Amino acid sequence: MIKFGPSGNGEQFYNLGLSGAKDSAKYVKDLGLNCFEYSFGRGITLSQKTAEETGNAFLSNGIELSIHAPYFINFATVEEDKEINSYNYVINTLKYAKIMGAKRIVFHPSTQGKLDRQSAVELTHKRLEKLADLIVENNLDDLIVCPETMGKSKQIGTVEEIANFCNIAPFFVPAIDFGHVNSRENGSLNTHQDFLNVLNVTKSIVGEEKLSKLHVHFSKIMYGDKGEIKHLTFDDQTYGPNFEPFAKALKILDLEPFIICESAGTQDIDAVKMKQIYFNA
Ligand SMILES: [Zn+2]
Repeated sequence: MIKFGPSGNGEQFYNLGLSGAKDSAKYVKDLGLNCFEYSFGRGITLSQKTAEETGNAFLSNGIELSIHAPYFINFATVEEDKEINSYNYVINTLKYAKIMGAKRIVFHPSTQGKLDRQSAVELTHKRLEKLADLIVENNLDDLIVCPETMGKSKQIGTVEEIANFCNIAPFFVPAIDFGHVNSRENGSLNTHQDFLNVLNVTKSIVGEEKLSKLHVHFSKIMYGDKGEIKHLTFDDQTYGPNFEPFAKALKILDLEPFIICESAGTQDIDAVKMKQIYFNA
């Protein structure tokens, strides 16, 4: 079943005086949404007990959780301690995902730094192979682990790079952030054919089964010469991408992904808009 939900709580949630996981889960359910991405972006700061309670709050409201791993991960780092930390961030995110009843996590693979592109991609690939072994050793391979397409040109994470990483292990499934793809490609996503191309390229590399489990981030994003600048809301008329042609592409390919809205402050409201567009298209 297709899923729509926000990344974290939007401004309206706080303006209503709501707070905490129980409020959040009920609020998302009342909006008619059915998934939620919980962010460990700035680190894993919650206790195991809070993680359990948070997970239960969402599960009991029928909301499926995904978890975003810390932003500090960089599998193309040339510093050994940062490499080790990167494995630990993913493994610990997965352990917490299990406690919270989440079935999938998302992470940013790496950034080029001073390396040339090919070296950075190869280094990332090699370390994701090691990460895959660690995931299996820790009995975490029943979860879905999604490397994400990235929006800045120096970040590793084109559509093809991510798809290729996903062939390392069965549990790696692409997270395609269409705002990121559109940003790094200077506004490439306009027609439903543009979205079909991205989905078909991904399918040709990872296969149909993995594409059916696709994780999606969707928001409009401002971009410049070096790609992503900042996340916008659906009210923006300048940058895109628009959701309508993507909804059409999903229907053509009969795909029902896990779709998270990352609009700036209106991620809840815009997730509802995406759902309406999809079901009215
Ligand atoms: Zn992300």
